[in-house]
Amino acid sequence: MSSEITRLNTADLYDAHVLNNYGRAPLTLVRGQGARVWDDEGKSFLDFTSGIAVSALGHCHPRWVKAVQHQAGELIHASNLFRNPLQGELARRLVERAGPGRVFFCNSGAEANEGLLKLARLHGIRKAGGVEGKCFKVIGAENAFHGRTFGGMSATPQEKIQKGFRPMLEGFSFGKLNDLQSFADLIDDDTAAIFVETIQGEGGINPATPEFLRGLRKLCSEHNLLLMLDEVQCGVGRTGAFFAFEHADVRPDAIGMAKGLGGGFPIGAIWIAEPSAELFQPGSHGTTFGGTPLACSAALAVLDVLEDEDLLARVQELTPVWHQKLNALVTEFPDKVIGLKGLGYMVGLVMAEDAMGWVAKLRTAGMLAPPAGGNVVRLLPPLNATIGELDESVEIFRRVLQG
Ligand SMILES: *Cc1c(COP(=O)(O)O)cnc(C)c1O
Repeated sequence: MSSEITRLNTADLYDAHVLNNYGRAPLTLVRGQGARVWDDEGKSFLDFTSGIAVSALGHCHPRWVKAVQHQAGELIHASNLFRNPLQGELARRLVERAGPGRVFFCNSGAEANEGLLKLARLHGIRKAGGVEGKCFKVIGAENAFHGRTFGGMSATPQEKIQKGFRPMLEGFSFGKLNDLQSFADLIDDDTAAIFVETIQGEGGINPATPEFLRGLRKLCSEHNLLLMLDEVQCGVGRTGAFFAFEHADVRPDAIGMAKGLGGGFPIGAIWIAEPSAELFQPGSHGTTFGGTPLACSAALAVLDVLEDEDLLARVQELTPVWHQKLNALVTEFPDKVIGLKGLGYMVGLVMAEDAMGWVAKLRTAGMLAPPAGGNVVRLLPPLNATIGELDESVEIFRRVLQG
């Protein structure tokens, strides 16, 4: 069978049988190494999609591969009815980063956020003196994205996400990101939590400012609300700090994590500060797959490489130069690129037109980059990208802008 026939079969089989829920690019990827991926015709691409901020170490980092291969031959899954040593160690490492508290492992960002929303309900009951169903409101941000479950969708005030699936859960209202008063105005006696992304990802790379985050912290402390931060996309080193909220020097009451945590293996987690962590008692929450030895081995490999290769410092060091070069594109093509947003390796180029056309052109020119929030092209390099690869991203973008 020629490779041409295999290739056609792959596309036909895929399109005939896989649910048609994505506006998918006509591209079949078969291999990855570092910041590059290859399609089924042997063409290589600079991969600054990183599986949507998932492949934090790039593709197939040798230490990650070795750890996962080893663990696959030891114990893959045994359920959460028993302890597993890797889960304990991973939780310890996350507590070390986040502060005194406890960690629950799941498999995705949406699941992590479900855990946070359930935490808000438990906190509301505590706040209402043990009465259930009274204090359960959650205040989120306009343009947020928190996932595709009913909880996640309810916290995501976007027509394109909610359309077709209403009614949503009760009790959600939305302030304007970085407008503290708009959040303060929504608080009442039945409010249990404030829930925002530290940097909005899907909504268009919109960072919450340090002052705004500190203001939310203060509001939450004053009104006995939990401050819950969705770090699913911006966490685990993407901004040059382990958690993006570290740039604002605030401590939340709970954190949702996922994407980069497993470096490509599905794992999500929530960290809950003491004493709120004690709100979850035996039987109150669970998951069959969450935190398997295999998933934890992948996440531990990510944390090990992050430390041993000093990747946070590296992101901090290379960010200013890369951002400066990207900003030059704004200056050079003012009619096409309006601005640059974001922190570290989570940036968006704001385009004058819809991003999809640019994303397709970049792909043809050899770079994979995802769109966000309509007119933003996101760049999400692996945290160990080389200077050469960062420069290459700017060069490809420049070529495409030159048209
Ligand atoms: C991707 C994302 C989610 C959803 O994660 P899934 O793993 O797709 O369920 C939630 N919140 C944010 C901020 C995200 O970027």
